[in-house]
Amino acid sequence: MPEAAPFIVVGSGASATVAASCLLDAGHRVLMLDSGDVDGRYAGLVPERPFDELRRTDAQQHRYLLGEDYEGIDLGNTGPLAQATAPRRFVFRRAMERLRSGGDSFAAIESLARGGLAEAWGAGAFPFTPHELRCAGLDPAEMAPHYEAVARLIGISGGNDDLAPWCGALSPLQPALAPDHNAAALLSTYARRKPRIEELGMRLGRPMLAVLSQPLGARRRANPMHGLDFWSNAGSSVFRPSVLLDDLKARPGFDYRPQVLVTRFDELEAGGVRVTGRDLQGGGSVEFLGERLILGAGALGSTRIALRSLDRHGQPVPFVCNEHAYIPSVRWGGLGKGAARHTYALAQLTAMLDPSGDQQHLVQAQFFSFTGMLLARLLKDSPLDYRDSLKIFQALATSFVILGVQHEDLPGAGKHLALRQAAAPEDDVLDIHWRPGATEQAAQRAAEKVFCKALRVLRCWPLRVIHPGAGASIHYAGTLPPSDEERPLTLDRSGRLRGTRNVYVCDGAGLAYLPAKGPTLTLMANARRIASRLIGSAR
Ligand SMILES: Cc1cc2nc3c(=O)[nH]c(=O)nc-3n(C[C@H](O)[C@H](O)[C@H](O)COP(=O)(O)OP(=O)(O)OC[C@H]3O[C@@H](n4cnc5c(N)ncnc54)[C@H](O)[C@@H]3O)c2cc1C
Repeated sequence: MPEAAPFIVVGSGASATVAASCLLDAGHRVLMLDSGDVDGRYAGLVPERPFDELRRTDAQQHRYLLGEDYEGIDLGNTGPLAQATAPRRFVFRRAMERLRSGGDSFAAIESLARGGLAEAWGAGAFPFTPHELRCAGLDPAEMAPHYEAVARLIGISGGNDDLAPWCGALSPLQPALAPDHNAAALLSTYARRKPRIEELGMRLGRPMLAVLSQPLGARRRANPMHGLDFWSNAGSSVFRPSVLLDDLKARPGFDYRPQVLVTRFDELEAGGVRVTGRDLQGGGSVEFLGERLILGAGALGSTRIALRSLDRHGQPVPFVCNEHAYIPSVRWGGLGKGAARHTYALAQLTAMLDPSGDQQHLVQAQFFSFTGMLLARLLKDSPLDYRDSLKIFQALATSFVILGVQHEDLPGAGKHLALRQAAAPEDDVLDIHWRPGATEQAAQRAAEKVFCKALRVLRCWPLRVIHPGAGASIHYAGTLPPSDEERPLTLDRSGRLRGTRNVYVCDGAGLAYLPAKGPTLTLMANARRIASRLIGSAR
């Protein structure tokens, strides 16, 4: 058995890479264990030219747009993987093959890829407000410097507009990327009709995105505005954990071991932690020794490892997940007019709704134009036959605006999961039960109606509200919540897992609540907070 690593970090996702980066900054050695599946097929295949030009001129476009095995053609209902184009499928591939979950129709989307889920994320990066942080079990004053440090590390662009007071404070921002034709028109209608929108309790502004509008460091460039963000990442303009991992791999003291599926940890009498896993290439069992272990295997992945290692099979733990809805809409004023050619494909605008009037239960929606996507995505949701739908959608495409609505989620009686033991540890099944209560559901439907009303005020026609199903937000948390009480399966304020001496959890498992905002910026800031505390105590 080799010498114990001072820190073992499990995973290479947004949470784990930020924790590792912070430890390396302080001069500590880090061993990162990661399943680490990679895309061996599409990297470099998507030319760096605008999407519409590729559609018109590239004879090879079918290879990446449809996929070499046509895996990009998805004729099922709009589900959790609505944005997963062929070049992004690798993010979910190995998890779909290897990880098992069950329960009442909850679609758990996980990743066993290098970089994890954020290799496919939409890069929405809002900090939580102080109220939201407290509900999540985090101290706003302690989190503030870590938000700033992470924003500097990953690069965040955005507006400083009407949304600012509801967003949570964050200063190091690059300017927002230029809005496209739909967003510019909606902002100007909003400016004219603001009193009516405000009466509905809604505000509109530019999103905060982990995408660059200016270069950052030696390697990353501003977004080229090719509208290809769902297919490639030219100039690494969108923050993806693999961008940070590549930097870490070049640093002294960092040892990256991919192709390891960690199954459990055991604390040793003499101190330190033994980590056991499956060698995904050779097939055998592997062991590693560390002084401290940081789990960043994703909320569900870390929970699997913790429940198995602490022999808590069958024990229910709480679980939260943002409820998600899509509202496809047509902007009347855009009909028959052209689209912005030079644009990006991520969220163009953000709307926030304050139904309780005290900013404590915000509902959030991101506006997307139909940029860099194939019409086939819309056809499958059309009530008409494909031939007629195609003609209609071709005429409507440039004025299409899609709202992705997120609702907050608090822990509750109908929301829990448990690990069911199987013959081999890696086959254990996560049984997920997640059903918001009737009052929560009524509030969510009411908020979606208000968004539809606001869309009409903004001169859009909402076509329908689509609920892609439980789990579709892919924002999971709350399974090992922070607590000041000495309770099993909770974290203390330093992120240490109770019942262990040297095991820490740095991902979504340790957030007790999810406001209606993407959690990932907060996951990264919290991972940095936990790593910083460990540095303090390791000296
Ligand atoms: C399409 C899509 C859009 C999204 N949009 C947004 C958005 O706009 N804003 C936002 O905030 N969030 C968004 N998210 C969610 C966001 O991607 C996740 O919150 C975030 O990536 C979670 O990061 P993580 O590092 O905690 O976990 P993960 O990304 O799940 O990473 C887990 C890591 O651990 C490794 N791993 C897992 N289990 C094991 C094991 N047993 N052994 C070894 N390694 C293991 C994996 O290989 C991976 O590297 C989106 C997600 C998707 C899929």
